[in-house]
Amino acid sequence: MNNNELIFYLVLVSTNCVIAYHWAVYGFFELAIQRPPKVLPFFAVLVGIGTVMVGGYMQRAGSLKLEVITEKNMAMALVYLLGPPLLVMILVRLLHIKSGVANYNRARAATQFWAGTGKLKFGQILQEEGEVLRNFPRAIKALEYFDKAIESQKKGTVENVAKSVISTDDQENYYDGYYNSRCPACGFSIKIPGSTEGVEGQCTMCGSMVTAKRIGRNIYVSAFGKLSKRTVLSAQNKKNIATALGEKALLLRMMNRFDEAEQCAAESLKFVDDALSDAPDDVGLCVLKSLTIFRAAEIAHVKGDKIKARNLYQQCLAIDQSIDNTGDSNLVQGLLASL
Ligand SMILES: [Zn+2]
Repeated sequence: MNNNELIFYLVLVSTNCVIAYHWAVYGFFELAIQRPPKVLPFFAVLVGIGTVMVGGYMQRAGSLKLEVITEKNMAMALVYLLGPPLLVMILVRLLHIKSGVANYNRARAATQFWAGTGKLKFGQILQEEGEVLRNFPRAIKALEYFDKAIESQKKGTVENVAKSVISTDDQENYYDGYYNSRCPACGFSIKIPGSTEGVEGQCTMCGSMVTAKRIGRNIYVSAFGKLSKRTVLSAQNKKNIATALGEKALLLRMMNRFDEAEQCAAESLKFVDDALSDAPDDVGLCVLKSLTIFRAAEIAHVKGDKIKARNLYQQCLAIDQSIDNTGDSNLVQGLLASL
């Protein structure tokens, strides 16, 4: 393979990989309707087409000689060109489908597309369009994608939760040069040498590897083993679930399935509040809470529940005020005034 052919090849394979990656993360149809549009894959398509054209021209002019990617060698050439992108696609899909991200992306792209076609007006029922959407197979499919994404996130994240801290100031647990402690995984009593900077051993009860590390006046004890790992709903899991439920509520509302939309928004709010109780200062979560309350308010608004809608719009404004996120305040105030 000569230099020019190598460059020709690398450009084509990289553009294919970019396209494959986005295809895997967003789905093919949803790639075309992204809002805001994803520029990179389209750029990659243009660069790919351009490279093939320039390559053809250079070949005729004699400055590019294809030795490996030839018609005679078509089968191998295809493997070289399509192999890496295919691999990217498989790997990304394995990772993203497991975490539900790919499903969420597809459903969200579709929802935002329908919301953005100009038909959706906040506070007003989508008359014909809502009825069309209610029976539209792609919209029903999108609801399934949301459910799959939420299900994946509800499986939680494996975290090493087996950790404990001993304070060296605590002399009650100190005896004969050892701190009495417990295996963080199973609770079996263990001794940790007080003189140590760092030590490693095995719990005789559960077999976990136990490490102790002294930092300042504390000794941090961790266990690594079967019992030390637990699936927990991480803050990110809760945030993702809340986000997906919020988007699903919007889609249900556009399909005129108001009661389900209302339930969905309420459930979304529960997950936001749960995440917020772990991290009350997280601005991203506050923005999400405001958005979720807005969804709930708007659903109450179109359902005709004015008192609830007014109350929720006001909550939404109060949160935005408290975090200086007043970008959409005019919209909310306008809706509030129209009640
Ligand atoms: Zn143990």
